Amino acid sequence: MTPPLPPSRDAARRERVTRRRRRTVATAAACLSAAAMLLAGVGIFAGAGEDPSYAAEAPTAEASSTPSASPRPTSAATTEPAAPAFCTDDVTEAANAGVADALAEAAGGAEALREALVDGDASDCVDLADPTAQWALVNKRQSVDPIDYAPSVVVPATYSPVGGQLVPDAAGALDALAQGARDAGAGEIALSSGYRSYDDQATAYQSQVDALGAEEADLTSARPGYSEHQLGLAADVVACDAAGCGTIYDFGGTAQGAWVQENAWRYGWITRYVGEGTSETGYEPEPWHLRYVGTALAEAYVEGGYATWEDFLGAPAAADYE
Ligand SMILES: [Zn+2]
Repeated sequence: MTPPLPPSRDAARRERVTRRRRRTVATAAACLSAAAMLLAGVGIFAGAGEDPSYAAEAPTAEASSTPSASPRPTSAATTEPAAPAFCTDDVTEAANAGVADALAEAAGGAEALREALVDGDASDCVDLADPTAQWALVNKRQSVDPIDYAPSVVVPATYSPVGGQLVPDAAGALDALAQGARDAGAGEIALSSGYRSYDDQATAYQSQVDALGAEEADLTSARPGYSEHQLGLAADVVACDAAGCGTIYDFGGTAQGAWVQENAWRYGWITRYVGEGTSETGYEPEPWHLRYVGTALAEAYVEGGYATWEDFLGAPAAADYE
């Protein structure tokens, strides 16, 4: 038995395109007839067809010749289609694919996307909790969902003393970042820790609890199931030189750290935890913890001066576990 297939997305898009074409033809016809009426109303005007200023002023002549008409022409307002809903087929398709740059482009830019997220207009098609999406939000209020989610990951070309892994787009972006730092003369960057499974995170968190106590550990390490590292989209980086690599705690004070702070966004990375964000994220600053969000959103994030990914997405602060 084969269940009836739902209408395909392609069919829906074809229908939409057809409707749009019909509307365009109707609008063009209306414009032509309006232009003919205008010409008839003001009489023959030599060169009118070539004079853009005449065309711009023409509706005023029509309005003044019609006493009941409002001072401004209203025909445009009544025939113009209403502002389209944010979740068009194109936006929905890009959102389902999980690629942030493609979603920003479909949405008309990163700022337009952010505005729709903040206003709630994107909630029908953009899932902030989708662990496969490059914009996925994971924090102390939002666990990885499903909690044992495990993406397909690869080993980036960038040196990693522990064989760190990332999802493919983030791996490529880390390699580009490391090359950028090298080209700029800022030095070598290595991947200290990338993807961590639920079990890896349980081990990492427990070691922090053992060393610092639970309260302090929560400021520096996520509980299992609550780490961005489980998405394969987070990279803890360290600075290296001929003598070897430093620790994550050294990174902020290195030439590489300074370069990353200024330039990581160019490669699609943001510094996820900064000092101004602690009251919202519940984490102390981590200059070494980079989060991949794609270049479009990273640029908008930095240009907008945001301190937390929560704020950028219009999501509530998540300083504590619920
Ligand atoms: Zn990290």
